[in-house]
Amino acid sequence: MIVTRFAPSPTGLLHLGHAYAAITAYESGDDFLLRIEDIDKGRSRDKFIQAIFYDLKWLGLSWDEPSLRQSTRMGAYAEALVNLKAHGLVYPCFCTRAEIATEIARAGEAQHGPDGPKYPGTCRALSLEEGTQRIAAGESYALRLDVAKAAALTGALTFREQGHVHAVDPFCFGDIVIARKDLPTSYHLAVVVDDAHQQVSLVTRGEDLLSATHIQRLLQALLKLPEPAYAHHSLVLDEEGKKFSKRDGAVSLQSLREAGETPADIRARIGL
Ligand code: GLU
Repeated sequence: MIVTRFAPSPTGLLHLGHAYAAITAYESGDDFLLRIEDIDKGRSRDKFIQAIFYDLKWLGLSWDEPSLRQSTRMGAYAEALVNLKAHGLVYPCFCTRAEIATEIARAGEAQHGPDGPKYPGTCRALSLEEGTQRIAAGESYALRLDVAKAAALTGALTFREQGHVHAVDPFCFGDIVIARKDLPTSYHLAVVVDDAHQQVSLVTRGEDLLSATHIQRLLQALLKLPEPAYAHHSLVLDEEGKKFSKRDGAVSLQSLREAGETPADIRARIGL
């Protein structure tokens, strides 16, 4: 039985790109889950969660109720963190964005990852003593994964993408943030913990998240979680050839509906 999921963040209204991702996930499995990725309290809104339910039902999708909300799962993420910490794979990082930028400028060059320059590793070298002191003094900190240590522990990894086996590049993002300054988790940690918890066996999502698979496979191996298969689909582009984005105020499904379009019109627009 193939279990797929659609995992939107309720930070805006769904647009055509989401419709494509949701329908693809729905049609790729036997069992379809909806997961609300609302760890970012500052940007998530209840009204957008309600709009997600409404839009997906309107498109004719149904899912196992109740849908999982990541904001209710902080305990599970904290447990995974304890596990990673126990293996000595995590270190506190006190750097601000500005300090990271200054350090990169000082070094004169930076390695780049999918999200921009990689973290230069400033806090990796802090002694346990200094880290403990700064935490006790109330300095805010994120937790980063020591990727070199992690990769040494797991050895070479692969992921399965639509029938092909690819090598994992655990270093592609550098030492990623595994728990944000304000949360016991980050996007990557929450996703792998929940994909396992919900027994997702096929992760379908846009190809903009293909690179995330490298780090997510590393986390799965470290946490001894099952390995799902992956299918990254190409992105729906707008008339100018750009990917739809909530931030650009891309035309929402809600506004298309209000303008009289039907679910069939939506499918036609995205070539389904
Ligand atoms: N929540 C993520 C997003 O809105 C998707 C996570 C995933 O599919 O792994 O882009």
